[in-house]
Amino acid sequence: MSKKVLGNTGRGLLFVISAPAGTGKSTLMEMILEEFPDEVAESCSCTTRQPRPGEIAKKHYEFITIEAFEEKIANKEFIEYAKVFGNYYGTRKEEVERLQRQGKHVVLVIDTQGAMQIMGQVPALFIFVFPPSMDELRRRLFKRKTEDEEKIQERLLVAKQELAFASRYDYQIVNDDLTITHQVLKSIFIAEEHHNPTFRSKGES
Ligand code: ADP
Ligand code: 5GP
Repeated sequence: MSKKVLGNTGRGLLFVISAPAGTGKSTLMEMILEEFPDEVAESCSCTTRQPRPGEIAKKHYEFITIEAFEEKIANKEFIEYAKVFGNYYGTRKEEVERLQRQGKHVVLVIDTQGAMQIMGQVPALFIFVFPPSMDELRRRLFKRKTEDEEKIQERLLVAKQELAFASRYDYQIVNDDLTITHQVLKSIFIAEEHHNPTFRSKGES
């Protein structure tokens, strides 16, 4: 008998979430982590980009030098890594295993290049979050005030490339109304935890 909606199995699943920059994936993950601090954990990635104001080292990212990153590539420490907007980002195997040992569901919030490296290699559930429209994406990037005009244009261009990968994801959700999207995302986590891991019905009659 389940005692709570999530965290009953002690079997940590791996979720991969991708969305164009500015769609709201960090906002959504904050909501999930606040609600399920003992059941869900977000893997802390390494990056060579500079911290933004308010970002905390080892919480938001492990901020490292290009040399240190390339050393980790050579040592095969990453499950996946990619260059995004000119900076390296990568997920350390050891970080994911550490969180899974705690029995938590682990979430990787990574770009589509990284997600494609994991697909077919590691068992995971893939969730793609769409912005409601490109105009709204532009508005959200402006509102966040973390990039200048040139960087926003670059992100909008890359967004179009990322959307082309969405069809390969298990789940597709649109982040229009934040409250609704949060409910939908949470429902995916709950449903997957309750899914029989050894069986996928083909729906044949
Ligand atoms: P990402 O992590 O995908 O780059 P953020 O979570 O930083 O995006 O969100 C970008 C901006 O959009 C932030 O200012 C955030 O508050 C806002 N935002 C996120 N989701 C919504 C939503 N559903 N409706 C309106 N604004 C949103
Ligand atoms: P930001 O610099 O805005 O935090 O992130 C830029 C992009 O890098 C986002 O699409 C984000 O999902 C992606 N990203 C963050 N961490 C990783 C990672 O470990 N690997 C990959 N491939 N992408 C990442």
